[in-house]
Amino acid sequence: MLEVKDLEVYYGAIHAVKGISLRVEDGQIVTLIGSNGAGKSTTLHTISGLIKPRSGNILFDGTDITGTPAHKIVASGLVQVPEGRHVFANMSVMENLDMGAYLRKDKDGIEKDKKKVFELFPRLFERKNQLSGTLSGGEQQMLAMGRPRVLLLDEPSMGLAPLLVKEIFSIIKTINEEGTTVLLVEQNANMALSIADYAYVLETGRITLSGPAADLSASEAVRKAYLGG
Ligand code: ATP
Repeated sequence: MLEVKDLEVYYGAIHAVKGISLRVEDGQIVTLIGSNGAGKSTTLHTISGLIKPRSGNILFDGTDITGTPAHKIVASGLVQVPEGRHVFANMSVMENLDMGAYLRKDKDGIEKDKKKVFELFPRLFERKNQLSGTLSGGEQQMLAMGRPRVLLLDEPSMGLAPLLVKEIFSIIKTINEEGTTVLLVEQNANMALSIADYAYVLETGRITLSGPAADLSASEAVRKAYLGG
């Protein structure tokens, strides 16, 4: 569903991503783990069209989307949820969901998806007319997640209390089981590996390890470096 080939990304003279290749199969949860500054966010931003790569290719559903404007990539169903929570604080929950659908023309589909979001997150339904800026952190994260075909999640657990982290991960799992493919960037490698099918470890712009998430969880090297022993 999503394929990244030999991606090279620079910020001026800084070489942030050094030849990354990865694949996300339809229906999978794939996670990118690695320490601060490894290039995880940069990789996501490049896939979603917010940053232009120096070279390399991004294929979505077999189509080369390298260099496609970000708004067109979103409209095709590849949606990035930024690090932290990004909702329109001065709009209600309902207005935020309408914003997410603003590029779509299929009114019935939009209504069906909104119903789905509310089924998944009943708390959002209870608060549908509340200004999003007044939602709790966890509720804002739920709202930001929506229901695209491929969800690029940048550290959804950041800044959340442990109980909410568990809830957000269980929601990611549910969204995935209902058909959304997920590429997940996380510092919380333990949690990420526990729900992912496949994982890539990034170190200073390069993939140093990859494999089924269960294998990486069991690997001593990964446990030592990223899972606290
Ligand atoms: P974190 O988990 O800390 O967010 P990350 O793995 O997501 O880290 P990136 O944010 O992708 O890492 O950063 C990769 C490298 O690129 C870092 O060395 C960072 O300092 C650099 N970098 C990121 N954004 C910019 C920018 N806008 N201008 C210059 N350098 C940048």
